[in-house]
Amino acid sequence: MATSVDPGLLVQLEEYGLKDAATCFNCGNCTAVCALSTENTPFPRKVIRYLQIGAADKLLQSPEPWLCYYCGDCSETCPRDANPGEVMMGLRRYLTAQYDITGISKRFYTSKVFEISAILFLAALVGLGFMAFHGTIVTDRVALNAFASSHVIEVLDLIMLVVLSFFLLTNARRMAKAILGDPGQYEKPVDPESSGPAAEVKKWNGIPVSLYFSEIKELLVNFATQKKFKSCDTKSQDMQWYVHLLIMTGYSSIFLLVVVFLRWFQRDEILSFWHPVRLIGYYGTFALLYGTTYALIGRWKKTKMVYKFSHSSDWAFLILLWLTTFTGILIHFTRLLEMPLSTYTIYVIHMMIAIPMLVLEVPFAKWAHLLYRPLALYLMRVKERAVA
Ligand code: SF4
Ligand code: SF4
Repeated sequence: MATSVDPGLLVQLEEYGLKDAATCFNCGNCTAVCALSTENTPFPRKVIRYLQIGAADKLLQSPEPWLCYYCGDCSETCPRDANPGEVMMGLRRYLTAQYDITGISKRFYTSKVFEISAILFLAALVGLGFMAFHGTIVTDRVALNAFASSHVIEVLDLIMLVVLSFFLLTNARRMAKAILGDPGQYEKPVDPESSGPAAEVKKWNGIPVSLYFSEIKELLVNFATQKKFKSCDTKSQDMQWYVHLLIMTGYSSIFLLVVVFLRWFQRDEILSFWHPVRLIGYYGTFALLYGTTYALIGRWKKTKMVYKFSHSSDWAFLILLWLTTFTGILIHFTRLLEMPLSTYTIYVIHMMIAIPMLVLEVPFAKWAHLLYRPLALYLMRVKERAVA
């Protein structure tokens, strides 16, 4: 199949934070040292080459940027300071934008003005929504449910969940189509000796649907554990995995509490310390606060290769997540201290931070990477099985 070439690709990728790929002279050192590179999916040299020759469609079909867990080994050994680890990071941003049909992801990653305006716009919308539709302001005690009914918030949460999932899954479908490639490659040649018509097999993109189901464990295990992080050789990568796991599990527990168990989480009476909902809330808060603080300090001090280069979207993600957690803690304390007006005010500020973060980050930016990484591993497994 002919490959279309885009000579401006390298320049285009600079908007996604990619700087040094042009200096690479394709020695292959990086691929040799990468613990995650395999015979079937060698990287990062191969995708850097695609980038240099402007092979945009080849890049779109490449799962490799999602298989890199950014340990930085390749960047440390590159003789040309091409920073291949950071090139892979830039490619992940670029691919996220390519999968997204709305164009929001592209604008979010390539324009700081858009990024900040989108966050402020959504925050203002949430703030105005509360100003217009808040419930009764009870001042002699904290009555959060009278101010913002947990039933109404629960319904709005579910609507948001459906809309964000729709965008995220639509983008994931485009990614899957690109990585699996031409359905014709999976067709078996018809055996002229066989008697009778072949049994009808349900397929998606040329691959039997049953194969997608039989390999689903690969997707679920990698999604829940992101265990490939630990496959890199360096010790600091182990720490990176713990931080990642803390952020992921902390986020998932809080997500469960505010979306599925909100009526137990947002109550006017204070639950006993050992109540499971309170304990899950404490774990989620600790995990998110520790994980995001560690990553923010790392990026500030540039302590590791993974934190050496920070795109504005990296900062936005961590700051929004940190502020969401911090304001969540403040609400807890103002409730315990029986400060009604402070509780309602901080609650609104908390929502003004949390909602833009979810709306922008889940389907269009960093949170989507959480799905794309295990999805790439899963698709490669399905593809290998289908070809075999
Ligand atoms: S990125 Fe560096 S190590 Fe990798 S092929 Fe290019 S020059 Fe060699
Ligand atoms: S950053 Fe680590 S995992 Fe990624 S390509 Fe380089 S060596 Fe491989």
